[in-house]
Amino acid sequence: MQRDSIPDLADTELVAVVAEKSALALRCLRDVARDYAPVVFANSFGAEDMVLTDMIWRENLDIGIFSLDTGRLPAETYALMADAERHYGKRLRIFAPRHDTVQDFVAGFGINGFYDSVEARKACCHARKVEPLQRALAGKQAWITGLRAAQSQTRDKLKVVAFDHGNNLVKISPLADWSEHEVWVYLRANRVPYNKLHDRCFPSIGCAPCTRAAQPGEDVRAGRWWWESPEQKECGLHLVDGELQRVAA
Ligand code: SF4
Repeated sequence: MQRDSIPDLADTELVAVVAEKSALALRCLRDVARDYAPVVFANSFGAEDMVLTDMIWRENLDIGIFSLDTGRLPAETYALMADAERHYGKRLRIFAPRHDTVQDFVAGFGINGFYDSVEARKACCHARKVEPLQRALAGKQAWITGLRAAQSQTRDKLKVVAFDHGNNLVKISPLADWSEHEVWVYLRANRVPYNKLHDRCFPSIGCAPCTRAAQPGEDVRAGRWWWESPEQKECGLHLVDGELQRVAA
């Protein structure tokens, strides 16, 4: 988010829209917690994920929150994890990569080998994100994500409820129809902690070596894996057999 485009809370129409969407998202989370237990929320601490963190932790919903510590996250993301734990008085569950798969990746491709080819980048994402995610989702009935349809051209058909065939459980994206502006209205109105990299034009934040600031007018995911074409820009967490998972339940 650019500093000059931070939404104005005096825009009562926008605030009312966000209040209505927030009530729907909260109802969705409550229904999922009741109907699909055990449910988990995969929290990467982006702006959207802080909206869901606020709803889940403030309302004490029966939804476990976990995060994947890839070992390559920006310092600002670790700082936010600690801030959020303090703010809500909760402890986050962390899943780390297996040390042997990371060692194998580095031995095969080099410490920063993910810059050299899509194959290497996907191998790194698999070792540091996909495999730990599979462990985090094992035995769960549903998982929650902070995906929004407008985030990129690979997410434009995103549904609130879908079946994740790759992980064999229901996938819920309560913010699928939210705009970036609406996310920031929620964060400001509820004084939710957020990643300070957003103040430096990082709309989408992942691992430090694979994320950079976006230029005004660029797609919100333009700063992620910027050396690859837009269709290739998913880490595998939201892909099934190489395709974005888009099946409505
Ligand atoms: S985002 Fe980059 S550093 Fe992180 S897991 Fe993927 S390739 Fe590796």
